Amino acid sequence: MKGTTHPVLKDVVLVGAGHSHVTVLRMFGMKPIPGVRFTLISREVHTPYSGMLPGLIAGHYGFDDAHIDTGPLARFAGARLYQDEVVDLDLAGRHVICRRRPPVPYDLLSLNIGSTPNTMDVPGASEHAIPVKPIDGFLRRFEALQARVLARSGRAAVALVGAGAGGVELLLAVEYRLRQAVTRAGFDAGGLSFVLLSDVADILPSFPAAFRSRFHAVLAARGIAVVTGAPVTAVEAGRLILEGHGPIAADEILWTTQAAPARWLAKGGLPLDARGFLRVDATLRVAGHNDVFAAGDTIAFSGRDLPKSGVYAVRAGPALAENIRRTLTGRSLRPFRPQREALYLVSTGGRHAVGSRNGLVVEGGWVWRWKDWIDRRFMRKFNDLPEMTPPAAALPPLADREALKEISAIAMRCGGCGAKVGATVLSRALASIEPAAPDDAALVDVGGNELSLQTVDYFRAIVDDPYTLGKIAANHSLGDVYAMGGEPQTALAIATVPYGLESKVEADLSAMMAGANEVLREAGCALVGGHTSEGAELALGFAVNGLVPATAALRKGGLKPGDALILTKPLGTGTLLAADMRRKAKARWVMAAIAHMIQSNGKAAQILRRHGVHAATDVTGFGLIGHLIEMVRASDVDATLTIDRLPLLDGARETVARGIFSSLQPQNVRLRRAIREFATVARHPLYPLLFDPQTSGGLLAAVPLAQAKRCVAALHEAGYAAAEIIGFVAERSDALEPVTMDLTGGQLAVALAGRHPARPRAHALQTVADTERSTL
Ligand SMILES: Cc1cc2nc3c(=O)[nH]c(=O)nc-3n(C[C@H](O)[C@H](O)[C@H](O)COP(=O)(O)OP(=O)(O)OC[C@H]3O[C@@H](n4cnc5c(N)ncnc54)[C@H](O)[C@@H]3O)c2cc1C
Repeated sequence: MKGTTHPVLKDVVLVGAGHSHVTVLRMFGMKPIPGVRFTLISREVHTPYSGMLPGLIAGHYGFDDAHIDTGPLARFAGARLYQDEVVDLDLAGRHVICRRRPPVPYDLLSLNIGSTPNTMDVPGASEHAIPVKPIDGFLRRFEALQARVLARSGRAAVALVGAGAGGVELLLAVEYRLRQAVTRAGFDAGGLSFVLLSDVADILPSFPAAFRSRFHAVLAARGIAVVTGAPVTAVEAGRLILEGHGPIAADEILWTTQAAPARWLAKGGLPLDARGFLRVDATLRVAGHNDVFAAGDTIAFSGRDLPKSGVYAVRAGPALAENIRRTLTGRSLRPFRPQREALYLVSTGGRHAVGSRNGLVVEGGWVWRWKDWIDRRFMRKFNDLPEMTPPAAALPPLADREALKEISAIAMRCGGCGAKVGATVLSRALASIEPAAPDDAALVDVGGNELSLQTVDYFRAIVDDPYTLGKIAANHSLGDVYAMGGEPQTALAIATVPYGLESKVEADLSAMMAGANEVLREAGCALVGGHTSEGAELALGFAVNGLVPATAALRKGGLKPGDALILTKPLGTGTLLAADMRRKAKARWVMAAIAHMIQSNGKAAQILRRHGVHAATDVTGFGLIGHLIEMVRASDVDATLTIDRLPLLDGARETVARGIFSSLQPQNVRLRRAIREFATVARHPLYPLLFDPQTSGGLLAAVPLAQAKRCVAALHEAGYAAAEIIGFVAERSDALEPVTMDLTGGQLAVALAGRHPARPRAHALQTVADTERSTL
């Protein structure tokens, strides 16, 4: 997807989008090393900034204010972003083992995976308490807590165990937010009670006395009870058992006690301290492992017990980036010198905070505004990334002479891009050779009751992750067979891999084929062979053979007046992938689009068959309108679409509003003349999405109107959550344009109610020529 100017020589894999790694990515984006490829593997692709988490819980910030979006950041750094969970390491083979993908090879590894609260030591805590860490999932856990409190009409006892700065700040934020939410819902906030629990003699034990007393005063003023010097010895449903204190009733228990390391680290063979944290030396290198670094909460730092705090993880970022750079370029490493005294600014729920540094304590609204200013400035570093020009193609300054020698022996040749051509260009080109297969796949009668289906698809890497690319490409290719009502049987692969070191090429190819094979296997389609060549960039395609009973073959020309048009997947992959390339798409939008792209159309086709489908096609490069026009022309009917019912991928509306389109869009937009009164329709904000080219899009199918609602309900149940009735088919009118846009939804409502919608008014636009129709 990126025009890589250098072959990949070194793979640096970053595990966890923690506070240090985001800085590493930013610094390498500012100053990349040619030939070094970064891969970020993270469970969550929006990483919460710990400093703003309490403000997010309190309601002062929105999700995007308080999270770093690793999508644009990874693209800025030229890094591949894999959303996955690492569960183990193969240190000898230099592979990272993930939960949902094949092992990821590395030359250099860095771990910044945070910590978890220690719930293991207290019986019942894992079952009944809500851990605050890992912080990446806490917002979801808090929202569930709030929903439970509201479901109890605001009557809830909330306890928080652990009275360090994180715990105290969090409880104040929770109290602030819940009181507001309960009051807003019309309940009495007097039904809420809060208690802060600590095993040691006082709250905030590592802070100066003046700081502690400020917080005692704040807690008392807010009616929050404090119980100290009473360790929790057990947690039961609805109550906490304490040593030296009676049991405390609690409907909701938040757990923020001392941090514990990720448990999987113990399996990996890395050196750990007594509590299980990774032992690193003064340069942040894992002791005894020259190719592994670590930073943040997960480390036991050489000679000093660093607080498990975001401040230290942030500060480690530049040192970690520098030492990764130095390792790659063969220079000696520099020690990380963490500060002795950090500035702590702790908010109290509202827009008020208390600050402490070197024994000095300050508080007030201005302290909160100061904190807010610092936090927002930090976030801007990651959310407002500068435009960079790619480095010139010179020999990389890497220390690995062997790799450099190998790569300079590879002739560098630039191949063309394997992009798909537009609908009208293709129609024109094919017009002269009269293709035998106007449908999604060629139907070949080989004798017997079944017809053979043959189809081929091929495209360049639309995502940077070869494993995901493999899945998308295979799924996309199978779509044609399903659209024709068939079952895939065999597939042949054609792959292009970029020039590069054999080991890198092989790893990418094997990840790509692993992804593809998973999809094909699940579809019962055997991968029987293929061909691979070298080229400018990664690309993959499949020739798929399928079978369909002669009587069940679905053709584009089967639309009947009185059919409903159903679309099984949301639109928007074209604009979202284009926005992703330009760092304008949020990572969660891209990940959700990928999830749709790898969702098979197989089950949808079965459901459509059970509901009397007359015709279907898979929506791909020509966009919804392009594929609909193919169907209405082949069926000699008209169609009406309800634009507001089009299912859309999250973010597509926003990216289109920003004018971000796929490079295929202009060619697809030529088909606008098939839309009646297109000049009026063009003013609708969703109009561009009618032409958005789809990768591995859904099925556009026609089922009788009477079956449509049941069919969509079955599709929802089968996991096609966005499936929707988007229009209906009518008799061919005398209008030149076969497609009408129902801007109010009224016509579809009438049709679904079993009445005849008004016959669309013929409106002959002078500009529409019949020649245009015949080329569509
Ligand atoms: C409520 C609360 C408030 C806090 N407020 C502050 C504050 O104001 N100031 C402060 O300095 N500190 C604060 N802290 C502490 C701070 O949150 C942590 O110290 C900090 O987040 C640690 O940063 P990190 O970079 O080590 O890891 P994290 O920020 O936790 O990031 C870890 C990353 O690794 C990913 N990850 C984890 N495991 C895996 C895996 N197996 N595979 C793939 N990815 C994985 C996660 O998705 C995440 O992206 C607070 C803590 C809490 C609980």
